[in-house]
Amino acid sequence: MQKIKNIAIIAHVDHGKTTLVDALLRQSGTFNSHEEVKERVMDSNDLERERGITIFSKNASIKYNGYKINIIDTPGHADFGGEVQRILKMVDSVLLLVDAFEGVMPQTKYVLKQALEHGLNPIVVINKIDRPNSDPEEIVNLVFDLFVELGANDVQLEFPVVYTSAKNGYAKKSLKDESDTMKPLFEAILEYVADPSGDIEEDLQMQIMNTEYDEYVGKLGTGRIYNGKISKNEEIVVIKRNGEEKKAKIGRIYTYDGLKRIEVDTAVAGDIVTIAGIDHIDIGETISDKDNVRQLPLIEIDEPTLSMT
Ligand code: GDP
Repeated sequence: MQKIKNIAIIAHVDHGKTTLVDALLRQSGTFNSHEEVKERVMDSNDLERERGITIFSKNASIKYNGYKINIIDTPGHADFGGEVQRILKMVDSVLLLVDAFEGVMPQTKYVLKQALEHGLNPIVVINKIDRPNSDPEEIVNLVFDLFVELGANDVQLEFPVVYTSAKNGYAKKSLKDESDTMKPLFEAILEYVADPSGDIEEDLQMQIMNTEYDEYVGKLGTGRIYNGKISKNEEIVVIKRNGEEKKAKIGRIYTYDGLKRIEVDTAVAGDIVTIAGIDHIDIGETISDKDNVRQLPLIEIDEPTLSMT
């Protein structure tokens, strides 16, 4: 069985999310970084056309010690409330990335509040510890105060902290540690992020959390497989939000390798995948085994009008 960890990153713009993901990619079993992908995509429009799908994406999948770590980007703004809620439903933890010099910003606060309300236990990553005059320990105290202010529970308040210089490619569990790799952050992810729930032996259930349109392959639906496995060309039933059942056939299935979208023949419970081939697919719908039709609990899809405090 595939070992999977699903996390989202919460970060204020410029606190180093791209640099951090690149550092993790470079030190993992995955090849490409943002820079390399960008270069390759620039001279590979033909390749993209041939594969029939846009290669760029905001998500990444990183291999480490036999695990596949899916990293989902979160928009850090209240305008994306509904999308944030859905992303948080798909993951089992979040990395709260905070600049060691600038500290917590309003935009990160909003998404953190949602994550805590979802019952997720964040891992706090204090980045840019190489910055002169930065005060990582003081920032941790401020993050703690923020958790208290946002109503974190006792378990959430005991958040693990990892200190990083994404730019220089190292992470530390304690500021006194000597480290020249990202290993401590990888280890924290494997240790603290809960394994995805769900049973691979059960019949297929997947929930669509986001849709997009691709000019080559049409409507795409992304979501998490909660039970069973999904296969290319498989006949399934789509359960609409109103309970209506529609027979359909899965076309292609995409997952990630580094920052690249790749096509796979099958995927299993716990994984987050994108499927093509169903033109009427929509957010909140369940993809179910055709002989054992079971709907997943409905998700909130209204964009909430929340004000930032
Ligand atoms: P994002 O907007 O969160 O994706 O941030 P980026 O990864 O693009 O980083 C924003 C800026 O911060 C860039 O100029 C990076 O080089 C810089 N940066 C990222 N990580 C570090 C770090 O660990 N130390 C220092 N000094 N700068 C960093």
